Amino acid sequence: MITLALSKGRIFDDSLPLLRAAGIEVLEDPEKSRKLIIATTRPDVRVVLVRATDVPTYVQHGGADLGVAGLDVLLEHGGDQSLAGGAVGLYRPLDLKIARCRMSVAVREDFDYAAAVKQGSRIRVATKYTHTARQHFATKGVHVDLIKLYGSMELAPLTGLADAIVDLVSTGSTLQANHLLEVEHIMDISARLVVNPAALKLKREPLRALIDAFEAAVEGR
Ligand code: ATP
Ligand code: MG
Repeated sequence: MITLALSKGRIFDDSLPLLRAAGIEVLEDPEKSRKLIIATTRPDVRVVLVRATDVPTYVQHGGADLGVAGLDVLLEHGGDQSLAGGAVGLYRPLDLKIARCRMSVAVREDFDYAAAVKQGSRIRVATKYTHTARQHFATKGVHVDLIKLYGSMELAPLTGLADAIVDLVSTGSTLQANHLLEVEHIMDISARLVVNPAALKLKREPLRALIDAFEAAVEGR
């Protein structure tokens, strides 16, 4: 049995065409069913539904053989090694080029970010992505006080909790609706396929075939 970890929502939706290209149809709609384990048209392939941030954990510890996770999630999970392609316990992340967005710094429209950065004053940054944010500001030599949040980052500058946020942006409409300005683009984000290295040894043939099919589907798009 091959177990693929996916999270509900855009990762699941955007993974369907890749699975289809590999000849696999998922037999249940996670938005309609409460099932956490979903069968596919391939009797030896199943999908497990986990939180986006739990995908690397499942794959790393063998709860799933492979999984799809955003680069944002991988960076927070395993540090920057995953960028280089070698996150601890995860085999060679393949860029699936789905669920694309960017990691950015945003501030209130009336906050002078350039001046704050130039003056070398400490700025308060709220984010779910503390590892990536710390790394980014350290590289710039900017002193930050990081405030860890789990959601609705946009609210932080509006309530005075923070001067800036580090968050994912796609269209920018959420920022705009909250009078926030994107002042810095940290990196482009997309979802990656991660594989458990032990599983790759034990189930080499079927996993290799699946990874190759995904890779071909990505290149062919
Ligand atoms: P939850 O929304 O359940 O708290 P989550 O935010 O981690 O969890 P999703 O919103 O489904 O889960 O995001 C999953 C992945 O999709 C993210 O890790 C990121 O890589 C990508 N993503 C997030 N927001 C966007 C966006 N606005 N546009 C495109 N991709 C995004
Ligand atoms: Mg979300």
